[in-house]
Amino acid sequence: MKWDAWGDPALAKELSADIKGLLAAALGVTGDAAPGPSADEVVLHPSRISAEDLDALAGAVGEAHVSAADADRLPRAGGKSTPDLLRRRSCDPQDAPDAVVLPGTEQEVAAVLAVCAERRIAVVPFGGGTSVVGGLDPERGAFGSVVSLDLRRFDQLLDLDETSGEAVLGAGLTGPAAEALLAERGWELGHYPQSFRYATIGGFAATRSSGQDSAGYGRFDEMVRGLRAVTPAGVLDLGRAPASAAGPDLRQLFLGSEGTLGVITAVRLRVHPLPAVKAYEAWSFPDFATGTAALRAVEQQGTGPTVIRLSDEAETMINLAMTEQIGGAPAVTGCLAVTVFEGSAAQVAARQQLTRDVLLAAGGSSLGEGPAHAWEHGRFNAPYLRDSLLSAGALCETLETAASWSRLPALRTAVTEALTAALPGSLVLCHISHVYPTGASLYFTVVAALGEDPLARWGTAKRAAGDAILGAGGTISHHHAVGADHRPWMSDEIGELGVRVLRAVKAELDPAGILNPGKLIP
Ligand SMILES: Cc1cc2nc3c(=O)[nH]c(=O)nc-3n(C[C@H](O)[C@H](O)[C@H](O)COP(=O)(O)OP(=O)(O)OC[C@H]3O[C@@H](n4cnc5c(N)ncnc54)[C@H](O)[C@@H]3O)c2cc1C
Repeated sequence: MKWDAWGDPALAKELSADIKGLLAAALGVTGDAAPGPSADEVVLHPSRISAEDLDALAGAVGEAHVSAADADRLPRAGGKSTPDLLRRRSCDPQDAPDAVVLPGTEQEVAAVLAVCAERRIAVVPFGGGTSVVGGLDPERGAFGSVVSLDLRRFDQLLDLDETSGEAVLGAGLTGPAAEALLAERGWELGHYPQSFRYATIGGFAATRSSGQDSAGYGRFDEMVRGLRAVTPAGVLDLGRAPASAAGPDLRQLFLGSEGTLGVITAVRLRVHPLPAVKAYEAWSFPDFATGTAALRAVEQQGTGPTVIRLSDEAETMINLAMTEQIGGAPAVTGCLAVTVFEGSAAQVAARQQLTRDVLLAAGGSSLGEGPAHAWEHGRFNAPYLRDSLLSAGALCETLETAASWSRLPALRTAVTEALTAALPGSLVLCHISHVYPTGASLYFTVVAALGEDPLARWGTAKRAAGDAILGAGGTISHHHAVGADHRPWMSDEIGELGVRVLRAVKAELDPAGILNPGKLIP
């Protein structure tokens, strides 16, 4: 993963002359942004960790697994939101964790936490580094230094129970590594967020991630059957049966805990046999309201697509402009919806027919397979485009929320208006990415000129959007989580008493408060 951009440098995308023309016409963006420093040129604030602290950490994990070298600190300096990437382009000294530790066992995690609690060092658990909410900011809080606790050595398929359809996966496995281990045995997890190629099993659990196949396989938190977490107060091994009435479900405390309560080391997950058949069909709707009602009908009737998503008019148009060739399919007007079906041949045929009947009755027109294949083909590449847009002088950022179906239209209007008022002349695109019987999530993409001070410009827009979301009855995050960026809205989201409950749990599990200061809990 590049330290100052998304993913694999070999996959970086150049913007075509047509797209640059579109940016100039729509946003007045004409000049390229000044390039940031290279990894060799970037200046980090010096590490604040003492030699004694490094020795103590080496005693916990072995000398080979502790480093205060800039080359190791830099890639763990934060996540991959647009503000993160903008900060990396700065030639001023940048912040980074003071050291990196890579434990390989739960005992070593416990030993690191003990050293840090005793020596007053903050700890930021680090999975794939793809947080977009400031969840990895190297905050020291009340402590003198901060270490990044990288989980990458927890990289094994620990168990596969083929009778029950459950797998235990190490927290540091990336999406592709986890799927490859399962596929060798004929199984699949089916969790495909856009950050799939880099994000980890532990990160998915810690942030309540949601993947693009959520209609079929559920959100990540719905797949979790159990987990192990090492806290400064001891180890928790949660979840022992497919369902339980043994009091409140403590797994839920760790799902979405974002490294503030403990370090997740392994997750037991529901898995399914690799699907025998996949079918694709794209749809066009005359407008977003018609398409939204159609998706609601599909979900409420339970017709069983694995993927179902709907772009608004603007996103449909932009996607079309960005995609040179959509599988030879007819031009899409109105709003594009994509459906994918997985299972046995009989299941796929039945689910597709049922879904098709509902979508046709709701005013959709089938576009065939082409655009749905094109969507799947390019689904992990959009983040590269964001880097190209930044280099071309355009700010591109996303935010997401969810609400009940009845609130969705007003929520979309409120967020769109807030963003366009804060960033006049910007493009605001929206899609429905995850559906439930009672509601759906809305995912917004904003493209605007970088302007003089893009961080301040985005900060204003983000505050306005967050206020609009809460005001319109949405949640501050459907799947990106809270981190540092959404923390100001947490009291509104869960109430003051809810905040006190979280603080009380943290005080019990992490009495010194070393775990991820400044994140999640106000
Ligand atoms: C381009 C892009 C696309 C994205 N698309 C999606 C998407 O489609 N769906 C989605 O849900 N999210 C998406 N995200 C957000 C992000 O990928 C998710 O939040 C992901 O779950 C984070 O996983 P990670 O392993 O990278 O965790 P990190 O970013 O390393 O960490 C995230 C948070 O979890 C904590 N943490 C990580 N591992 C552990 C652990 N083992 N124990 C305790 N705490 C831990 C960290 O301290 C941090 O607070 C996207 C991000 C980007 C940059």
